[in-house]
Amino acid sequence: MSGAHKVLVVGGGFGGVRAALSLAEDRRFEVTLISSDSDLRYYPTLYLTATGGKRANSSIPLSRIFIDKNIKLIQAEATSLDRTNKTITTANGDSYAYDSLILALGVVTNYFGVPGLEQYSYSIKTQAEVARFKAHLHQQIIEDRHPDPNYVVVGAGPTGIELAGALPHYIKRIMKNHALQPQPVHVDIIEALPRLLPRLPKDTSRMVKRQLKRLGVKIYLNSKVEGQSIDALTVNGKPIRSHTVIWTAGVSTHPFFVNNGFNLSQRHKVATNMYLEADKDIYVIGDNADTPYSGMAQTALYDGRYIANNLIRLANGQEPFSYVAKKPITVIVAGDRWAAVLWGKLRIYGWLGWLLREASELIGFHDFEPWNIATKQWLTEFSSEDECVVCAIAESHS
Ligand SMILES: Cc1cc2nc3c(=O)[nH]c(=O)nc-3n(C[C@H](O)[C@H](O)[C@H](O)COP(=O)(O)OP(=O)(O)OC[C@H]3O[C@@H](n4cnc5c(N)ncnc54)[C@H](O)[C@@H]3O)c2cc1C
Repeated sequence: MSGAHKVLVVGGGFGGVRAALSLAEDRRFEVTLISSDSDLRYYPTLYLTATGGKRANSSIPLSRIFIDKNIKLIQAEATSLDRTNKTITTANGDSYAYDSLILALGVVTNYFGVPGLEQYSYSIKTQAEVARFKAHLHQQIIEDRHPDPNYVVVGAGPTGIELAGALPHYIKRIMKNHALQPQPVHVDIIEALPRLLPRLPKDTSRMVKRQLKRLGVKIYLNSKVEGQSIDALTVNGKPIRSHTVIWTAGVSTHPFFVNNGFNLSQRHKVATNMYLEADKDIYVIGDNADTPYSGMAQTALYDGRYIANNLIRLANGQEPFSYVAKKPITVIVAGDRWAAVLWGKLRIYGWLGWLLREASELIGFHDFEPWNIATKQWLTEFSSEDECVVCAIAESHS
C-alpha cells in the first residue's frame, strides 16, 4: 500500500465508531469519521433517560471516545456520494475523499403516513426527542394536576416494552415530587400484530406480557393505529383519550441511501455482496445492511469489527472473510429489576435477567471507553435528572 489508506466512516453510532476504533490501531490507515451528532447515542439506555434518568447515561461524546486515537472527527451531515471521484459531500458543502468508505447511518422514524402521528406523537430516538417528551410529561401533570388519562406506547418491540415498563413508576414519581395525591396511572401498549415481541419466540412474548400486566400496563393486540389528534389516538376505529402517544412502531433505512442510488432489498435495507460491500469500496454496516440480525447494537458492533478486520486483511494482501451473521443475545427489560434474556436456547426471566442486562450495559460502555470511565458512565443509571426544578429539588432531598 503506497501512502496511508484513507478510510472514511460516515455515522458515529455503534457500527461506525467500532469500525473506526478498530482501524485506528493500524497506522497504515488514515481514519476520518463524519457524524451529524457530537455524541454516540447509546440507545439501549435511552428509555431510562426518557423516564427520569440522566442524559449522560445514554450519550457518550465522540470527542471523549476518540481522545488520543488516530481518528479525525468531523461533525457534519453527509448528503451526497460521488462514486467516480470517491468523495462524500456534507450539507455545508465540504468534500472528503476516501479509498474505502464505511456507511453506518442508522434508521429514521417512519410514520407510514398515518394522519396526525408525526405532528402529535412523541419519539425517543434522540436526546432532543427525549428532552421534548420529558418536558411534556411534566408540563401536562403540572397544568392538569393529574396524570394524562392514558399514556399510549405504540409498538410492542423491545423499545416500546422497555418504555411502557418504566413509565408508570416515573409518572408516579413526578406526581409525588409535585405533592399530588396518588392516582391511578394508565399505560397502554398498542401492537398491530397478534402478540408482543413478534420477532421473538412465543414463550418470551407470554412471559413479558404477564410481567407488563403485573405492572398494570394494558395491552392491545391486533390493533391498528389509524390517526391521531391533539387529544386522542384512533385505534381500530375507536378513540383512546391521550395527549401522550409515543410512537416506537416504525423505522426505515436512512434516506441517504435512496438519495444516492443504492439498491434496497425487500426489507428496505441496503443490498450488499458477501463482504457487506454495496458498491466498489463502499461498505454498509449495522442497521443499514440487509443482514439477518441488523437492527441491534451488537450486530452493528460485530459488523464494525468485521469490516475493520477485512480492510486490515486486504492491506496485508490476504483474502477478505465472507460475512457470517452472528445471532445476538437479546435482553429486554420490563419494569424495575425484571428482564427477559434469550441467549441461544437459554431463557432467563426476572431479576437474574436484569442483573445480566446490567452487566451487559457495563460491558457495552467498555466497548467504547476504558473500564474506569465506562464504570462511571454505567453508575449514572442510578441517579436521576430532570429539567423540572420542583422535581430536581425533590429528588435531591430523597
Ligand atoms: C430507543 C432504542 C433502543 C434500542 N435498544 C437496543 C437494545 O437494548 N439492544 C440492542 O441491541 N439494540 C437496541 N437498539 C438498536 C440499536 O441501537 C441499533 O441497532 C444500533 O444503534 C445500530 O447501529 P448503527 O451504527 O447502524 O446506527 P446508529 O447507532 O443509529 O448510528 C447512526 C449514526 O449516524 C449518524 N448520522 C445519521 N445521519 C447522518 C448523516 N447524514 N451524516 C452523518 N452522520 C449521520 C447519527 O448521528 C448516528 O450517530 C435500540 C434502538 C433504539 C432506537
